[in-house]
Amino acid sequence: MRRKFIAGNWKMHNGPAATKEFFGKFAAELKGSPEVEKAIAEGREEVAFFVPAVSLLTAVGESKDTPLIIGAENCHWEPKGAFTGETSVPMIAEIGATHTLVGHSERRHIFRETDEELNKKMHAALEGGLSAVLCVGETLEEREANKAFEVIRTQFVEGLKGVDAGTVAEKVIIAYEPVWAIGTGKTASAGDAEEVCRYIRRLADESFGSEAAEMLIILYGGSVKPENTKGIMSQPDVDGVLVGGASLKPEVFIEIVRNAL
Ligand code: 13P
Repeated sequence: MRRKFIAGNWKMHNGPAATKEFFGKFAAELKGSPEVEKAIAEGREEVAFFVPAVSLLTAVGESKDTPLIIGAENCHWEPKGAFTGETSVPMIAEIGATHTLVGHSERRHIFRETDEELNKKMHAALEGGLSAVLCVGETLEEREANKAFEVIRTQFVEGLKGVDAGTVAEKVIIAYEPVWAIGTGKTASAGDAEEVCRYIRRLADESFGSEAAEMLIILYGGSVKPENTKGIMSQPDVDGVLVGGASLKPEVFIEIVRNAL
């Protein structure tokens, strides 16, 4: 049985002061949700926050006595050097964060990150000891042109090129986030989410074998809210959710975490 993985992606929200306030409130929400605490303690559910680089230190400090996972939203592929404005994997690891997102659609589309660059980030993250969440997903245009599966295949295969099956099984998570469903209020139907997540598991089988495919954690992201969490999580190939807007309020996010159980 795969564990559930419920993650918030704060994007460009919450500096250190707001981060401190968030974790204070979220710890109280967790205390009021013994079923969540139990699920986490038993390894049935993991709860993670991907936070801005400037807030990582605060997030790690504030969540120190909790089972929460803290990750970066992005990383560079070089360990150090003349890359103004970037954050390296060793820097992220030194802070005590354990995960990073790679290739969020906003990185792909706004910052024009390519599959080749994302593959370098993937290797840097994994070789630097982080777990990596590779984000894949098609635009509306691509979906309407019946290219969704082809786009996702390329992002998956190119993003994970050169990564071995054992590492994929243990340290990689895939997040399917259709671009048209991000921040738009339009959620993919539970059936649409399942169809693509099942396809991703098949791709994993083809590239890394059935054992890795069976172990791989696959998330859905795009306008996830407390009200649609149960339906999405009831799908057999959806193991978790990656939540943007609805992860910014502790009292809303805890509901998603609870509904995902
Ligand atoms: P929303 O939940 O705000 O649609 O964002 C989804 C997302 O991009 C998470 O990474």
